[in-house]
Amino acid sequence: MITAVFDTKPYDREHLQPAAASSGIELRWLEFRLTQESAPAARGAEAVCVFVNDQLDRVCLAALAALGVKLVALRCTGFNHVDLAAAKELKLTVTRVPVYSPYAVAEHAVALLLTLNRKTHRAYNRVREQNFALSGLVGFDLHGKTAGIVGTGKIGRIVAQILRGFGMKVLAYDPFPNREWAAAQGVEYADASSVLGLSHVVSLHVPLTPETRHLIRQETLDLMQPGAILLNVSRGALIDTTALIEALKSGRLGGVALDVYEEEEGIFFEDLSGQVLQDDELARLLTFPNVLITSHQAFLTREALSDIARTTVANLAALAAGQPYLEGSELG
Ligand code: NAD
Repeated sequence: MITAVFDTKPYDREHLQPAAASSGIELRWLEFRLTQESAPAARGAEAVCVFVNDQLDRVCLAALAALGVKLVALRCTGFNHVDLAAAKELKLTVTRVPVYSPYAVAEHAVALLLTLNRKTHRAYNRVREQNFALSGLVGFDLHGKTAGIVGTGKIGRIVAQILRGFGMKVLAYDPFPNREWAAAQGVEYADASSVLGLSHVVSLHVPLTPETRHLIRQETLDLMQPGAILLNVSRGALIDTTALIEALKSGRLGGVALDVYEEEEGIFFEDLSGQVLQDDELARLLTFPNVLITSHQAFLTREALSDIARTTVANLAALAAGQPYLEGSELG
């Protein structure tokens, strides 16, 4: 079965190719993203394999269906970028990778927190310039402080546990609280306003849905402690970037670490180092000394990439063999 793999990077090939060996699945590597315009590149394929910044709107899906594509295999967990209603109407099956190493993402969130708080990224650059001065590098002890975890699914729970290990008090908000886990880990559930208002560090671990879009906006930023650190390794649009920039300019927030950005499509995952950055809000964010941004790399561990490749190929192989998909992987 021919599968057009959009938005391919070398690390995708390295993991997908061996996973697909002797599966009868022929992977066709395409380095550009899937959009309405690029959909014709799937001609001849029965399946497409896509990632987080491909745009699977109605027009794109209709173009795929017209080409004879039967399956859209997401090699990610989130599916906010797929018009599932349109896919259903067009009889396109959509599968995803419901679970892959949640440790990869959780550990990256904590790496960002430690770096931002102790300013190791700035210290590294200084020392390489033989600047051994410490001014401006003061952080705070995490021990004894309060962390607020918004969303206690697979990733949020691990972040909470790591931060408990640092001796932090952990508050959590989730509309579906896991009370047994919280009791076992010494985590306390509270309402969303209290979690935001009482925490020195707030970390977002919720999916992007119409309800969670701009979960962090001016009103919710106003609830946060002055000097608090905000972490987002989930989806960019959980945060209203314009309001975030205002909160940073006013000095209200202590720092922000982002692995995702509202308008990351077409920017993250690309080398734009020789170009003029056209996104003014991202450019502004990059000027703050207390903002740390990585380019959607929280998933990027060998373990997570292997899990993603294995599940994606299993989903494709199931289509080829007319068998059911991996549990929980079929959508729409
Ligand atoms: P999950 O489904 O296991 O958990 C999500 C949790 O959020 C659930 O417990 C749910 O009840 C809760 N939730 C839903 N709406 C909420 C709200 N309004 N307020 C508080 N909690 C709410 O998901 P997960 O595996 O932990 O992943 C979380 C998110 O991380 C994903 O949706 C994805 O967007 C993101 N992610 C990012 C990367 C990356 O590389 N940066 C990688 C994987 C996942």
